[in-house]
Amino acid sequence: MYDVEKVRADFPILATEVYPGVPLIYLDSAASSQKPTTVIQAMDDYYQRYHANVHRGVHKLSEMATTAYEMARVKVAEFIHAPAPEQIIFVGNATEGFNLVAHSWGRANVGPGDEILLTEMEHHANIVPWQILAAERGATLRFLPFHEDGTLALERLGEFLTKRTKLFSFTAVSNVFGTINPVRELVDAAHAVGALAMVDAAQLTPHMPTDVQAIDCDFLAFSSHKMCGPTGIGVLYGKRELLEAMPPFLGGGDMIRRVTFEGFIPNELPWKFEAGTPRIAEAIGLGAAVDYLTGLEMEAVQAHEQSITAYALESLSEIPGLTLLGPRGVRHGGVASFTLQGIHPHDIAEILDKDGIAIRAGHHCAMPLHHKLGITASARASFYVHTLPAEIDKLVASLHRARDVFRLER
Ligand code: PLP
Repeated sequence: MYDVEKVRADFPILATEVYPGVPLIYLDSAASSQKPTTVIQAMDDYYQRYHANVHRGVHKLSEMATTAYEMARVKVAEFIHAPAPEQIIFVGNATEGFNLVAHSWGRANVGPGDEILLTEMEHHANIVPWQILAAERGATLRFLPFHEDGTLALERLGEFLTKRTKLFSFTAVSNVFGTINPVRELVDAAHAVGALAMVDAAQLTPHMPTDVQAIDCDFLAFSSHKMCGPTGIGVLYGKRELLEAMPPFLGGGDMIRRVTFEGFIPNELPWKFEAGTPRIAEAIGLGAAVDYLTGLEMEAVQAHEQSITAYALESLSEIPGLTLLGPRGVRHGGVASFTLQGIHPHDIAEILDKDGIAIRAGHHCAMPLHHKLGITASARASFYVHTLPAEIDKLVASLHRARDVFRLER
């Protein structure tokens, strides 16, 4: 049995008050999740007991730090079922994962007349790096549309995936709609026209089991800070032959095997893509986050989120004037985005904040998506391992209060 109260006890921040007498109700995990004690302690332990640089020293502390850093890579590889730890590149965040692929693979493989296919529901992290690449290389970006209900127009895939498509990069789970896209089907469709497939797993890996081999994607990126881990680190997974053929992204120490005044020979995977002193404490924290989520079991995490999200969508839909964005009646990522007639999302968020409820308001780094919907912003509540039905009830009560503040009729 999944014991939410027990899980909640693992997160010290959940016992705090936002204002005197007002406990925190954290409904913003899709933006960044809170951290369990084990993650905080793992990083603290590194700094207190064995901080040193990795891969360099022969002394004991450096050895300990190197082992912990590389163990974190092994844990992440197992967590997403990567064939080998060398295929796990530690980057700054999911955003850097996209930039790395666009910069390194993109500049070597994309030219004039080539196309990169994205979808209209992408986060800016999976749009802007390709816009930069396309402008530089004379390539074209195309966007697979979404239907009004926030599901992809899969029936039009054949129109958008063509022999000119070099890469199809798409999100597994929409951070606005909560749509869970048919990842394997999309990867297969890309491969069928000879294109590569990159998956934005920023809203997948923290919430559901991830299996890169079952998905068969060529690249996949996600961030640690959305999955109980620290900020400052993310993961890029890639197929070995692709990563091996790709030129380095950043140059400097650690990413080289040999340097002369004339040039350099790059290091092996994964260090070829990890220039300079890496994110040691962050990797150790991410490793602890992976241990934590593995302990909860991702199937159980997913089931908990499914039920809490269904409850939230149902409860929110009963509020007069509230419009939910995204599909209904299907499996849904742990987000509920909405607009409330007569109140700007920022005003909603401010009123909710006074009740201790943290939600996100704005475009959620998906401006083109909002533009297509004809709105500039929405409010988003998002749920995680620790969310309680009682917190959803408080969210609903607070939204009613917001309507009262704005004197909207009940
Ligand atoms: N992709 C999606 C779907 C996201 O939700 C986010 C974060 O909001 C990102 C990419 C970018 O994550 P980060 O800002 O950690 O790089």
